[in-house]
Amino acid sequence: MRELFFVTGNDNKVKELNILSHGIFDVKKITEIMEEREIIEDGRSFEENSLKKIMAYKDTEKFLIADDSGLEIDALGGEPGVQSARFLGGASYGEKMEYIIKKIEGTDNRSARFVCSAFFYDPEKNLFICKTGVVEGKISFEIRGTEGFGYDPFFIPEGYEKTFGELGKEVKNSISHRARAFKELFSTIQKILI
Ligand code: IMP
Repeated sequence: MRELFFVTGNDNKVKELNILSHGIFDVKKITEIMEEREIIEDGRSFEENSLKKIMAYKDTEKFLIADDSGLEIDALGGEPGVQSARFLGGASYGEKMEYIIKKIEGTDNRSARFVCSAFFYDPEKNLFICKTGVVEGKISFEIRGTEGFGYDPFFIPEGYEKTFGELGKEVKNSISHRARAFKELFSTIQKILI
């Protein structure tokens, strides 16, 4: 099985990708084989930040994957967007969600989307591939559910009544922004590496 080294510190993402890769790729955290390196995520887009993660480990000559993702809320002009992880500094996700629910109280427009830009790097061909996945939805009126991570408990994907926090990983892995980006990416990588 081809090993792909994922530039991430997030174990939830590694689990999600190992489910998505259906046993074709063995997704490992890059920090399993080397020390963590500092990456400054100051890009203005998800693509830019995802590429920064790849570039930080490009010299290792490993097959790399990376992603950058976040939540765009229309009533907040697209915020927290690329700042999703750093939004409100050290506040917990419960606090971040409560803050947002209060802030958009009274607005009719609760539409939002999760976006994920995923990169692959092949050191043998010096090839970079990027795919972006989106899941549209809306912000719920209250925090519901305990599954998933981050903003999952207040995001209701289109076509559902429940939040990602209530729907659980099976549903999330079939429709999420990360699932969509990496399904595309994995199917392209498979054609290149065979
Ligand atoms: P990243 O790890 O730099 O991509 O930061 C992504 C941030 O966006 C996370 O820390 C979460 O705040 C948020 N986020 C991205 N994907 C998800 C998801 O699937 N569920 C909930 N929150 C997410």
